[in-house]
Amino acid sequence: MPPTYTTILFDADDTLLDFHKAERTALRQVLLFFGVIPTDGMMDRYSEINAALWHAFERGEVTKEDIKNERYRRLFAEFGVGQGVDTRAVNDRYLEFLSQGGYLIEGAETLCRSLKAAGFDLYIITNGIPRTQRLRLEHSGLLPLFSDVFVSEAIGAQKPFPAFFDFVLAHIPEQDPRRVLVVGDSLGSDIQGAANAGLDCVWFNPKENKNDRALPVTQEVKTLSALAAWLGVRMKEQ
Ligand SMILES: [Mg+2]
Repeated sequence: MPPTYTTILFDADDTLLDFHKAERTALRQVLLFFGVIPTDGMMDRYSEINAALWHAFERGEVTKEDIKNERYRRLFAEFGVGQGVDTRAVNDRYLEFLSQGGYLIEGAETLCRSLKAAGFDLYIITNGIPRTQRLRLEHSGLLPLFSDVFVSEAIGAQKPFPAFFDFVLAHIPEQDPRRVLVVGDSLGSDIQGAANAGLDCVWFNPKENKNDRALPVTQEVKTLSALAAWLGVRMKEQ
């Protein structure tokens, strides 16, 4: 039996919202908007370029601002498309399309409704841009089920750093950290963050990845309904 939690801090992307689908849809839309016909090869290459740039960011080699332009500049250069297009405008438009991408992970809405009905106090903890994340949650229909949404760029700290979790814990009614549960798919941000903050956590791991960081996990689940079952809550369609 898990301890008696009152409060659940949910990661958004790839825990409740399908980020992969939102990203691909927005990319397709933005390329079309700027007169570029998107191909699967181009979309895959974008993901590689984007991931490489984020790794370079983690190493301190590029800034976040650089990433926003550079990912499109490199993509366009490699495929010989988008000549003369302002990559800053591409990025702005991309974020607008991304904001509309509130696609749900299977079972997410039923899970959140059932947990809310069972009396849990629910929060979103997400790394990202406040406006984009809030709009995506709004489009998904989940937003009214959450008491608050904590977004890293608004807080000035991100998961997994303790400053992010300190801020969240200072802004929720539950004062006993043993009654607060973190749920997320990312070992690096959610599970490491919970460990740093001394909180219990559920690792949502549908792809059965390996816990290669040997981080403490209170419970691992492959599906969202398994999370409900572990918490003793029946999933109710409404
Ligand atoms: Mg995630």
